[in-house]
Amino acid sequence: MKIVVKIFNCNYETYKNYYKDAVKRAFKKDGFDINPQDIEIVIDELPGDTIQSQRAPSGRHSRTITVLVNDIPTYIIGFSNTGFDEDRKIESDKGIKPYKYGNDDYHSNSYICQGINKIFDLYYDTKLEYPNVKLFFYLLDVKKASYPHNLSNTISYRELYTVGFEILNIDQISFEEFKQLGFSVEENVGNYAYISFNKFANDLTSISKKGPDNVPAYIKCIDNKFDIESNNDEYSEEFRDLTELEYIYTFKTLGAQTYDNFLIMWTLNTLAEKENKNLKFVFSKEKYNFRLGQPPEDAKFTESFPVTITNLFQKIGVNIKYESGDEVRQQLDRELNQYKTAKEKNEIRNQELFKNNMRAKGLETKCYLCGCEVEEILEAAHLWGVAEIKNASLNKLNMILSKDCMRDLIEECDHTNELFYKKYVLANSGDNGVWLCSNHHELFDRNYYCFDSEYGKVIIKKDSNEIVKNYLLSSEPNCSMNSIMTNKTKSFLEERENLFKNTVLEYETL
Ligand SMILES: [Zn+2]
Repeated sequence: MKIVVKIFNCNYETYKNYYKDAVKRAFKKDGFDINPQDIEIVIDELPGDTIQSQRAPSGRHSRTITVLVNDIPTYIIGFSNTGFDEDRKIESDKGIKPYKYGNDDYHSNSYICQGINKIFDLYYDTKLEYPNVKLFFYLLDVKKASYPHNLSNTISYRELYTVGFEILNIDQISFEEFKQLGFSVEENVGNYAYISFNKFANDLTSISKKGPDNVPAYIKCIDNKFDIESNNDEYSEEFRDLTELEYIYTFKTLGAQTYDNFLIMWTLNTLAEKENKNLKFVFSKEKYNFRLGQPPEDAKFTESFPVTITNLFQKIGVNIKYESGDEVRQQLDRELNQYKTAKEKNEIRNQELFKNNMRAKGLETKCYLCGCEVEEILEAAHLWGVAEIKNASLNKLNMILSKDCMRDLIEECDHTNELFYKKYVLANSGDNGVWLCSNHHELFDRNYYCFDSEYGKVIIKKDSNEIVKNYLLSSEPNCSMNSIMTNKTKSFLEERENLFKNTVLEYETL
């Protein structure tokens, strides 16, 4: 067996430290123990005087090595970026182009997604002629820097597994690091691939709202069977066939995060197909320009992805659907019509809007008391109850709405000053909601427990029966209410807490 490894000239100095281990591990996956001494190296010469020009995006360079067995391409191994780029260091030392070796601030350190499209391009192109070629990934810097271990990278690794690729040295990232994200109780702990669309969507939400000004990426749901005319308690929480919903992954940009988003979309698509979900994509910033006072005709929609990405999706055979500007406009019309009907019927609850507002605020779809992520039994619970808002005096409503944190709830529109509008906005605000599983929603609405409005701690009714109490006590360690306590949430919860305390009289905070 003749083993030849092709390495691009512009990567040689860096990859020479790693390729033997990578190749050995690739063969091991197929059950072969090879002697690294038997590997021959061929340098794949790319034209250009500088590392930069050799790696130029238009060239055929990718962060890969190709392993040929008896002249047949057998493995392609894609490497992560590195902050310890030996090739650029050498060039820098010669005074050609400065490079900060091992600089922690260098964002591409160990990042796997940047340029990952070219790794897939090479793989799918090679596969046309050599259908048995396999693609693996290999992480650099695992022992040197913190980057390969950060949460957003661990999500990327799980994405790769979900779309069907393995990382040869994943064992160098401890499984404990993946656990920081949490494997939901519904998932197989020990398996890197996501098995649940909802869990993955929650991880995306959780990571995308980390920055203080980040608009979280979220999954919007349109239920075309939802009819505000028959909008009542029974409807809102009855079991829905999830395959009838339209899921829309709403995200900020394709700009700098194009390749992140490429892998995210592929992963979402894979999971959606498995769960028979109808999934589309939309770019939120453009869409929500509508809401920032921009006239609809000026709103920009990104109707397509960069051609590099659409071509790649074609090669992979993934059919990505995205929402058109027209569809988004139709939805906004739908929301307006819903408002009109709601007003005619004097029904302030709009469960579809409420849930999407909660999602847009970055709430994960999981029970915030017990952590359950089974979408089928998750319900959107109001903190300040719909009935209480409906019965609230105008004074009360104005008092709440005039709080600094609440001011932006009221949008300038035709009905800004309507009493009904104020109630509608409060009832359906994303900050007035929390997801609870149906069990915990029921107990919440029956005042067996509440969350305190300062820290989100669980307060339970003192004279509840022992069984209910123990059930709540067993769920409480997973309570993550404190993670969503915005000032708005605190205001809404204050109303709930007061009502709870006045109703149950005796209670204890856990
Ligand atoms: Zn629960």
